[in-house]
Amino acid sequence: MPTAHTPALAIHGGAGTIPRAALDDETLAAHHTGLRTALTAGFAILRAGGPAVDAVTAAVMALEDDPLFNAARGAVFTEAGQLEMDAAIMDGRTRAAGAVASICGPKNPILAARAVMEHSPAVLLTGPGAEAFARAQNLVFMPESYFETPRRRAALALELNRRLTGAPDTRTDADRHGTVGAVARDAAGNLAAATSTGGMTAKLPGRIGDTPIFGAGTYADNATCAVSCTGTGEVFIRFTAAAEIAARLRHAGQTLDHAAEAVIAELLTHGGDGGLIAIGRDGPPVMPFNSSGMYRGLVTADGILHTAIHHEDFTKQPFD
Ligand code: ASP
Repeated sequence: MPTAHTPALAIHGGAGTIPRAALDDETLAAHHTGLRTALTAGFAILRAGGPAVDAVTAAVMALEDDPLFNAARGAVFTEAGQLEMDAAIMDGRTRAAGAVASICGPKNPILAARAVMEHSPAVLLTGPGAEAFARAQNLVFMPESYFETPRRRAALALELNRRLTGAPDTRTDADRHGTVGAVARDAAGNLAAATSTGGMTAKLPGRIGDTPIFGAGTYADNATCAVSCTGTGEVFIRFTAAAEIAARLRHAGQTLDHAAEAVIAELLTHGGDGGLIAIGRDGPPVMPFNSSGMYRGLVTADGILHTAIHHEDFTKQPFD
């Protein structure tokens, strides 16, 4: 008989947070609402006994649809003023994985990643090939105008102008980057992770971050943990951030909490600012970050939705 596990879900909306002082009440409330919408979408699946992989898909789709977060609608621009999105999903049951990189078109890049996982022999597809595959899978496509937001255009203009003048980079985290992600454990004890991003503002065309690199920004294995990262992608790739946490659990017997905190601290010493969410075989999710904030949320077993942005206490609301 399979043992029953406590379902759990955690999400993030990226380490690219707007500074507290610059967040008016309305924008603050909108971010909490966006996080709660994603938690509700994912937890509804877990509560009904559904699989973790469906829960992380639903949670990430909700965040992709919300223009406040840097993924799909609301994604940041490359230095050439284009949109290039990355997304990945991994199923801890079998370590099946699918990812897309440098794409623009599918309304929900996470569905393109999931289609790669479920309907292709590949693990990672990029650019036009990935878009053609998504079309062949009958995914919903949207015109570029759907994804574009004035706020991200302004962030690009700010950075391009800064480069012209040679001024120091004093941009806020919100103007630099962001990502969305989810990790879940279902009642059968299966783990899953999903991550989706527009990447870094004014990135080089063709640049791919940690999100679609398994073991860096996204990872799931029932034997250890599921992880979704956000932050300076290059450092997360070089230090195989997510795989390092799993390795610490597997080979060093560390707790998830300790391993995740240690990795986030180490990344910072190499210029990797950001954070992550992770969930293990049992116990609550962890969500360490070394940045000024990380949009984040989790649902506890009693069905209370917890959301937070900076270092404040969680805002709590019942699931129903
Ligand atoms: N990790 C993402 C990337 O490098 C950006 C972010 O999470 O803020 O593409």
